[in-house]
Amino acid sequence: MSKLSFCADFGGTSIKLGVLDGDRIEQSEIDAEAQKGLRPKLGQIESEWRRLAAMLGESGPPNLIGLGLPSVIEPWGNRILSGFNKYTDAGEIDLEEWATSTFGAPLLIENDAHSALAGEWTSGAAKGHDNAIFLGFGTGIGTSVISDGIPQRGPHGQAGNLGGHLQINAGGRKCMCGGVGCAEAEASGWSLPGLAEESRLIENSSIVRPVTAGNIFRAAAAGDALAMQLRERSVDVWAALTASMIHAHDPEVVVISGGIMRADGLFEQFRERALGQIWRGAVPPLVRKGALGSKAALIGLQRLAEIRQSRG
Ligand SMILES: [Zn+2]
Repeated sequence: MSKLSFCADFGGTSIKLGVLDGDRIEQSEIDAEAQKGLRPKLGQIESEWRRLAAMLGESGPPNLIGLGLPSVIEPWGNRILSGFNKYTDAGEIDLEEWATSTFGAPLLIENDAHSALAGEWTSGAAKGHDNAIFLGFGTGIGTSVISDGIPQRGPHGQAGNLGGHLQINAGGRKCMCGGVGCAEAEASGWSLPGLAEESRLIENSSIVRPVTAGNIFRAAAAGDALAMQLRERSVDVWAALTASMIHAHDPEVVVISGGIMRADGLFEQFRERALGQIWRGAVPPLVRKGALGSKAALIGLQRLAEIRQSRG
């Protein structure tokens, strides 16, 4: 029997779509326009999935509709508990009804970081390691934890998932979550532009406008003083967060993902700084970049659907 899955990973700037049949996968990507919400995208997602299924030679109904969203999701359920400012209408749409009436398939909604770690655990950077943590550095910071082979969820879907909101700077910057000094508020895709604009150095800075995290790291590579300062600060924040996550969860492997880490030499510098501040008695975990790229969450959704099914 075919195990056809239609999966989507909703990022801030693009939606990654995949149709999976066992180990075979066809993928594409469409613009997210996340501020406009999810509803206007559903028709395009459906037609893309059908096109990708045809490329795999499949015309039958899928066994799974899997959606990875940048939101806290009810553990092992499909209810969206928080989404902040992206896809704000997602909680109001009856997605189960959409999956059933459009595709005749069951639905799984999962957090995007949980999905990505499950994918890396299945066939990527965490394969063979039943204790793994994931940190995705992008617009925000998404995290996920697998302990002793069990993906962590907690009673409210928050366990392992809110690493971006661990407070690494008491009395620090205000975060959109209501907290203060969260790692995300101190250095992430959404907070770095604000930090740059507030600096007196911005006037003489060569950072290309509009100021984005990508433009900051490009300017840092070219020697811009403000951009280099922000890069150093980012490495400090991310290393502190990662060391704290390692102390909390005792992983064998730490999987790092996210476009923001692509800047030249940034990952290596971050890894050295993170491992340099863990408890001296600890066995240092492997710290690796994700191996599956945009496929990770798509593969992970299929894996998490199987785990949910096996739990009844
Ligand atoms: Zn926060």
